[in-house]
Amino acid sequence: MPSRSQLFCIVCGGADVVGLIQLISVPVICTQLWRSASEARKVARADIDLVGCRGCGHVFNAVFDPARITYEANYENSLMASPRYRQFTDAIIERLFAAYDLKGRTVVEIGCGRGEFLHILCQRGIRTGIGFEPSRPSETVSVDGAMMRFISSVFDPALAPHADAVCTRHVLEHLPRPVDLLRAIRKAYASCPAQVLFIEVPNGGFMLDQLGIWEFLYEELSYFTPSSLANMLRLAGLSIERIEPAFGGYLLIAEAICGPHDARHPASSPAVAENFHTFGARYTATVTAWREWMDLARRQGKRLALWGGGSKGITFLNLLDRNGQHVVQHVIDINPLKTGTFTAGTGHQIVPPAALKDSPPDAILLMNPEYETEVRRALRDLNIAVQLIPVSGYLPPPATA
Ligand SMILES: [Zn+2]
Repeated sequence: MPSRSQLFCIVCGGADVVGLIQLISVPVICTQLWRSASEARKVARADIDLVGCRGCGHVFNAVFDPARITYEANYENSLMASPRYRQFTDAIIERLFAAYDLKGRTVVEIGCGRGEFLHILCQRGIRTGIGFEPSRPSETVSVDGAMMRFISSVFDPALAPHADAVCTRHVLEHLPRPVDLLRAIRKAYASCPAQVLFIEVPNGGFMLDQLGIWEFLYEELSYFTPSSLANMLRLAGLSIERIEPAFGGYLLIAEAICGPHDARHPASSPAVAENFHTFGARYTATVTAWREWMDLARRQGKRLALWGGGSKGITFLNLLDRNGQHVVQHVIDINPLKTGTFTAGTGHQIVPPAALKDSPPDAILLMNPEYETEVRRALRDLNIAVQLIPVSGYLPPPATA
């Protein structure tokens, strides 16, 4: 673990920063697609030294090194294959159309990935969708009579096109100075104060309150709590319309407009500081309970599967099923791009649900209970009846495997 010098909060700049937990030797990038188990096990590793700012409630990795993050072409983190996540995204879009009258308008998305969100916006009736995304080439395509344009760049106010709404989803948590991006957005769009900025980030408050401890991964430098997100928006000179938990509490969504800040959203709250105080002990007790549970299952010769080959599943496996004989035989994921690939750091093979028919496991660990309904439906369709064990920080492991 690299030593940390005097720490300052990366959101508010305050020095009242306390240590929370450390995760040693986790994969630097979780969601790259590895084609062999041995290649997957050789993944670059780094440590996480998670700290919390008592001034604004922000949580971040104090030893994060952005130079270690290089996304390759085989990076895959789309959640859109899941009907539940797609339904959530549709509801967000519905809300934005209703609240900000987006029909026939222009929307800019910063960090648009493959452009799936913009694509749905175009199908729903915006006129132009423009995405900033350094990992893909600049091009223009038409979608159902709308135009979708990709700019192969990080967001640059000098390149900023006119926009009626700006979105940035799952971007701010990767940035060493997240407030700088918000200031750049404000600078680019300050002359049109009615424009809305929509933000979606993982909910660090949920990780602290509900022990969403399998969410921590090296790629994400930051975990915003409602108070640190509010602070950051205020520091960027944006006025907060709304900040709330979403998707079962796993995510935070925010809407803001250019203008003076709204005093309804406080700087920090005593509850956040209290959570900092108890988090380390709660984290250790939960990881220990799951480790003992997995060891017992291993000794009993159980065959487990794990549903969810995303970052949560990969963090869980790296903490609990990395060395020796794997007790998790297969990782199941419905994203066809992941089929036949292997999990970073541990080399578990990722298979589609249908593969369970050949060798049903004794039980399935469900990494995100938000997907329980669709997972149960998929198992019913495949005529597979096995125990489904939700893996949530606040739920202890079951009595037996
Ligand atoms: Zn702070």
